[in-house]
Amino acid sequence: MIWYPYEQMKTMRQPYKIVDAEGVYLYTQDQKLIDSVSSWWCMIHGYRHPALTEAIKRQADRFSHVMLGGLTHDPALRLSEKLQAFLPGDLDYCFFSDSGSVAVEVALKMALQFNTNRGSGRDMALSLTHAYHGDTFKTMEVGDDEDYHFAFGEKKGVIHIPTQIAALEEAFAKYGDRFYCFIVEPLLQGAGGMRMYDVAFLKRARELCDAYDTLLIFDEVATGFGRTGNRFVADLVCPDILVLGKALTGGYIGHAATVANHKVFQGFYSDESRHALMHGPTFMGNALACSVALQSIKVFEQEDYMGKIRDIEAVTRREMEGFADARVKEVRIMGGCVCVEVYDAQELKGFQQFAYERGVFSRPFLNYMYAMVPYIIGEGELVQVLHVMKEWFQR
Ligand SMILES: *Cc1c(COP(=O)(O)O)cnc(C)c1O
Repeated sequence: MIWYPYEQMKTMRQPYKIVDAEGVYLYTQDQKLIDSVSSWWCMIHGYRHPALTEAIKRQADRFSHVMLGGLTHDPALRLSEKLQAFLPGDLDYCFFSDSGSVAVEVALKMALQFNTNRGSGRDMALSLTHAYHGDTFKTMEVGDDEDYHFAFGEKKGVIHIPTQIAALEEAFAKYGDRFYCFIVEPLLQGAGGMRMYDVAFLKRARELCDAYDTLLIFDEVATGFGRTGNRFVADLVCPDILVLGKALTGGYIGHAATVANHKVFQGFYSDESRHALMHGPTFMGNALACSVALQSIKVFEQEDYMGKIRDIEAVTRREMEGFADARVKEVRIMGGCVCVEVYDAQELKGFQQFAYERGVFSRPFLNYMYAMVPYIIGEGELVQVLHVMKEWFQR
């Protein structure tokens, strides 16, 4: 049997069984649902997009996978070149892996070894309170979410700070010489509660990382490819290492990338074999994943996705304007993300089924009811999603 994620198997509701999917819609045997979650935020083009499906089929007719150990191939070469051109600054060195968590692991390993290679004994990481960077051990270490990680107790070598400039300055003043990295989900913290903050914090972080020679890592697994209303937050403030996942392949096949700048790459580039990055996931650079990622970026550019995301944000602001309820603590909107935070998590109990009956798939967690819709959503469909969210409080 399937052991489902984040669930108490004894008490969990039976999952809705999906028998078909197309565009923004998921189909169960007897219901048609708008996927307001984009399958954990990755399905930006919706389901069964002809060009993306075709890219996978075309590559499958050649070969589906070839390892990158001692071998290389066009889909991986072309994707690394495309990312080099598509990403800001000198984020030019692309390390592929099979999931966001692994790509964050690789970023942390890069940052640590960058310092080891230059003979530095830096032993601390800086990260944010409510950070979420994945479910593997090192990512849980820099993460800060009781509900995901409570089982693992005290952590060493990591400082968590809120997204306030004063806290940032204080942390650097105290420990700046010991930080090998500062890792953040830039502008939008997803799984930690859809928390949004100002770019001024990131600008100050860039200055302090430069002053203290600390590597700045942006985990854009969730925010990359437009979700915040920016292509990448890295377009506003450029990190030393950028992590991409989720929407990288349009959500069609799990894949991720850890992209380093020139400075980081140079820290490994030497005549010493022990300075090499010792990492190599079996499925890194998978040919099907790279092919569909290339097609996804092509559609993203050609069909003005940034314009679509601006429209989603404008409609969301219009529809949520004036919405208030005694149970609601805050409504937050940024780009293609809207979150209604309630004071008491109990207030959202039953909402998923309520939404299901009204043709929307939603998956609230803790105190957060949210939507991260596919960018191809029509205005009427988006309004339907937002109405269902508001209607819950107007019963
Ligand atoms: C989802 C997510 C991850 C983990 O990615 P997986 O592909 O699920 O391993 C890491 N960081 C952030 C910010 C995420 O949203």
